[in-house]
Amino acid sequence: MTAEFDVLIVGGGMVGASLAIALENSGLRLGLIEAQPLRTNSQPSFDDRGIALSYGSQRIFQSMDLWPAIAPFATAIKHIHVSDRGRFGVTRLSAEAQRVPALGQVLTARELGQTLNQRLQQNDSLQLLCPATVTALRQQPDHVELVLDDGRTVKTQLVVAADGRDSTIRQLLGLGAWQQQYDQVAVTANIATDKPHQGMAYERFTNSGPMALLPMSDNRSSLVWTVSTGQEQALLDASEAEFLAQLQQRFGYRAGRFIRVGQRHSHPLSLMQADMPVQDRIIFIGNAAHSLHPIAGQGFNLGLRDVAVLADLLYDAENCGSMSLLHRYQQWRQQDQDQVVKATDKLVRLFSNDLSLLGHFRGAGLALLDAIPPLKQRLADRSMGLAQKQPRLGRGIRL
Ligand SMILES: Cc1cc2nc3c(=O)[nH]c(=O)nc-3n(C[C@H](O)[C@H](O)[C@H](O)COP(=O)(O)OP(=O)(O)OC[C@H]3O[C@@H](n4cnc5c(N)ncnc54)[C@H](O)[C@@H]3O)c2cc1C
Repeated sequence: MTAEFDVLIVGGGMVGASLAIALENSGLRLGLIEAQPLRTNSQPSFDDRGIALSYGSQRIFQSMDLWPAIAPFATAIKHIHVSDRGRFGVTRLSAEAQRVPALGQVLTARELGQTLNQRLQQNDSLQLLCPATVTALRQQPDHVELVLDDGRTVKTQLVVAADGRDSTIRQLLGLGAWQQQYDQVAVTANIATDKPHQGMAYERFTNSGPMALLPMSDNRSSLVWTVSTGQEQALLDASEAEFLAQLQQRFGYRAGRFIRVGQRHSHPLSLMQADMPVQDRIIFIGNAAHSLHPIAGQGFNLGLRDVAVLADLLYDAENCGSMSLLHRYQQWRQQDQDQVVKATDKLVRLFSNDLSLLGHFRGAGLALLDAIPPLKQRLADRSMGLAQKQPRLGRGIRL
């Protein structure tokens, strides 16, 4: 059987699903291929990790009319506190100083995934091809043909590969990627503290790697604890009391006493940037184009900015597979993607290094950042996802 599409999205994770929703009213013939059945919410990244949505991402979801469905799960970040354990120098950001209601919002990937999946299933203009995976791909002059594992062949003007870090589409095309292994693993868990978090997010750098604590619903906080590869198993196997004691010792008492921990998971960490994010009639977005260390909570936010720009261009496109559209997309997105990838890499290296001289520079850097308003404003704009040229969805305009 052969089907015709204008845009075929491969991968219905948070990024692919967001694009399908953003294109709802475009009039384009839309399809979404996802390896997992949508109803079970079983996509691999829809787990209990806390996702910090930047202020810019919240605005994009508001313009997509998705925010009312997300808001009941979300907890506002009112303050961000960045510090280096055992050294002087702290940087603080606050929603009040930035004159915004919140610097960002936190919910679990599971809650966000569930909300996106519900909306996908209400969308009559979208053809869901799932569960299915792509087994072969042929680029023709005026379309791309994809062969699915259930024997179907589908034809499309444009393929959007949103199939994650180990993108099958990238592999089928034989394309390379720049990879950086950090020899680090993130242990994630939801934590209860004995004092209210009051919307405070902590980014704390320690000599064994960075830790983040994000405010969540029911006065829980979402922990991302980075450790060297090999150390994670002891933390996963530790009893609740042992785990909490180690966490307290490493993080200190700034957030209060840690009194309970939920299920623990581990995620190996690396950085990846695809060599050619744009090909004939193929665009890579989200983790398929760039997969980040979660140190600054930017991975999904960056992917959602890919979505907002691509949707902006596709709504006005006469030919959605044209090379000029692909080039405009690439020009618009390149700087943001390169900057976030490089900044994340630098941050991981700088803050995972325990050389004492570097430590002093770090402390001084954090103190300077806090004291110099233009530097601090740049940091705030970056973490709120407002440092780039904004597409319509980012400016609050519906498509
Ligand atoms: C511990 C941790 C904490 C994080 N915290 C934050 C945060 O606070 N803020 C933030 O912005 N980001 C955060 N991130 C990053 C964020 O989770 C990712 O950027 C995001 O999940 C990427 O989504 P994606 O849709 O691009 O890729 P994925 O989530 O990998 O989705 C890919 C989808 O494609 C499907 N698929 C794969 N192969 C095929 C195929 N061949 N055919 C069809 N379908 C296929 C998969 O089933 C999956 O559903 C964090 C990540 C980690 C690990």
